[in-house]
Amino acid sequence: MQEHLDAILVGAPGEDLAAIPLPESYRAAVVRKDEVGMFTGLPSADKDPRKSLHIEEVPVPELAPDEAFVAVMASAINFNTVWTSIFEPLPTFAFLERLGRESRWGARHDLPYHVVGSDASGVVIRVGSAVRNWRPGDRVTVHCNYVDDQDPGAHDDSMLASNQRIWGFESNFGGLADLALVKANQLMPKPAHLTWEEAACNALCNSTAYRMLVSRNGADMRQGDVVLVWGATGGLGGYAIQYVLNGGGVPVGVVSSPEKAKLLADLGVEAVIDRRAKAYRFWADEHTQDESEWRRLGKDIRALVGEDPDIVFEHPGRATMGASVFVCKRGGMVVTCAATSGYMIEYDNRHLWMKLKSIKSSHFANYREAWEANRLIALGKIQPILSATYPLGEVGEAARQVQRNLHEGKIGVRCLAPCDGLGVDDPELRAKVGEDRITTFRRLGA
Ligand code: NAP
Repeated sequence: MQEHLDAILVGAPGEDLAAIPLPESYRAAVVRKDEVGMFTGLPSADKDPRKSLHIEEVPVPELAPDEAFVAVMASAINFNTVWTSIFEPLPTFAFLERLGRESRWGARHDLPYHVVGSDASGVVIRVGSAVRNWRPGDRVTVHCNYVDDQDPGAHDDSMLASNQRIWGFESNFGGLADLALVKANQLMPKPAHLTWEEAACNALCNSTAYRMLVSRNGADMRQGDVVLVWGATGGLGGYAIQYVLNGGGVPVGVVSSPEKAKLLADLGVEAVIDRRAKAYRFWADEHTQDESEWRRLGKDIRALVGEDPDIVFEHPGRATMGASVFVCKRGGMVVTCAATSGYMIEYDNRHLWMKLKSIKSSHFANYREAWEANRLIALGKIQPILSATYPLGEVGEAARQVQRNLHEGKIGVRCLAPCDGLGVDDPELRAKVGEDRITTFRRLGA
């Protein structure tokens, strides 16, 4: 991909990029099918992405008519890459096999290796014959909703399509690589004021937070809503907090260190709870929850903002769901998209039905929601939450940081980009939005 990179760095026009021959192989972060059993029986601390994520040369796949090749300048670590790399809750090769059975084009994905990664920024270098809206030379970000537009279920809310997948998790040829194969309907314009790595870190978590909070498919947040955000400086939470502030809501951010609490305060969040300092023990033991601890959290929230949360932004799962349902306001909503600490959830249903609360599920975002969320980034109204970057060669270490919750916001990965700081096309907008605001997580992250 060196020729492509050289051309991108000198701003070569799309025709020139399209004329450069595609390589036969490209550099990619993969997990291998023959290693899916490598962590079986080990304690969770020993399930280490550094052992299972490999950098390999893999063949360039054939391009389908509705697809594009993107020269990937940067990507980012998402928690799904952590799951893939420890083969939990199940090895992702089962997803690839299923996709492989669907069609001739799907069959390309069923391979003994899985190129992972569900975020990317870069430059389109080839488009298939059926692609209308994009051409070589376009500078893009990629969202990860991978849907077949010939599925009727994909034509209201595409997240309801029967074959909806997450690119680079449930499909192959993902973004942690020098080249990515994407459907044309995953492409979005790169925010012109951001660097490659700042542009690459947003789509997955930002779009997910947008759907959960702003969209009618999620909590449809109103001005004045009190919103409890777990993991408020994490990948999802760092965007959720911004949506609450922008939308006139009252955020209550939960974090686990004084440094993270300070970061939240710098973002303008007045109500912050350090869960480690509070030492909540929602689970008295592995099987029993302690309602008095839920009550203690509820009191802490009331002490900060004077009322219960209208919305609880939930993703830790088993560790917090009982508390989330309990503290949610009468008639309020817990919106959930994940279960980092365990997916067998337990809560006291009496608190749900007697107080007419609801639990709403959410998963990534449809193209329109992802586009709207990307537009807010491009307008400078939502900021990237990049805190650090790693080169692609150290992707295992980057994933390990996220697995062990040692990071803040998002960790970026430089793929073709030789260094940080490249790719800004609109320095005036950058100056207008403000360097300090764009780089808050980078400056203040631990
Ligand atoms: P992240 O960057 O690791 O942030 C998660 C945050 O949650 C952490 O910063 C941590 O914050 C908090 N947390 C972790 N364990 C906790 C616990 N036991 N109790 C309370 N808080 C806890 O991850 P992320 O990108 O935000 O993703 C979070 C989860 O959502 C992952 O499981 C991911 O797979 C999932 N996800 C789902 C979708 C979807 O479309 N369905 C999209 C994105 C992510 P503190 O330690 O500071 O409290």
